[in-house]
Amino acid sequence: MNSQAIPPKPSLSSLSRVLIDEGATIEFGRDLALATRREPLEFAAPGRGAETAGGILHLQGDLGAGKTTLTRGFLRAYGHEGAVKSPTYTLVEPYEMALCNIYHFDLYRLADPEEFEYLGTEQYFDVQNLCLVEWAEQGAGWVPSADVLVELRERGTGREAVCTAFTARGVDILDGLNS
Ligand code: ADP
Ligand code: MG
Repeated sequence: MNSQAIPPKPSLSSLSRVLIDEGATIEFGRDLALATRREPLEFAAPGRGAETAGGILHLQGDLGAGKTTLTRGFLRAYGHEGAVKSPTYTLVEPYEMALCNIYHFDLYRLADPEEFEYLGTEQYFDVQNLCLVEWAEQGAGWVPSADVLVELRERGTGREAVCTAFTARGVDILDGLNS
């Protein structure tokens, strides 16, 4: 028997987390932010030449699932101290952080997917930037595809987050979450 066959490398990876309350969702957002860093251990000391690494995260779930709450924890981990308002009407809110630019989209009110093109947001999706997109499905065909999809579902009084990686970058991020 030839036992030297190399097992195929999985092209996607996924993981799930139970989030018992709002605090857990914020903490998960923070963990996700840490996982987007190439050198997570240096995260506590921004500005010391630590490399940032971008990525596109789609946040999926019903209204009230916790997408904006998760984003709050994510931005806090990158040093944002102010409020995080839901960009329901502006469609996108920019955050220029010390380490990188973060763009928070909420496309719930996009009337037509093509409208996304007129937002003039191509430069937002540069590789070194981080983009978190709520309601990406509203811009189907126009919104760049995700490195990581985060699905938030109700689970009892809390939530469950299921993350799926679709690119090598996404697999890196999930590896960071797991370590
Ligand atoms: P979305 O952006 O998905 O529409 P929001 O984050 O604006 O949702 O609102 C989520 C609501 O659910 C908030 O009231 C928040 O306090 C609550 N919430 C967030 N995470 C959890 C959780 N893990 N368990 C229970 N409630 C949560
Ligand atoms: Mg929201």
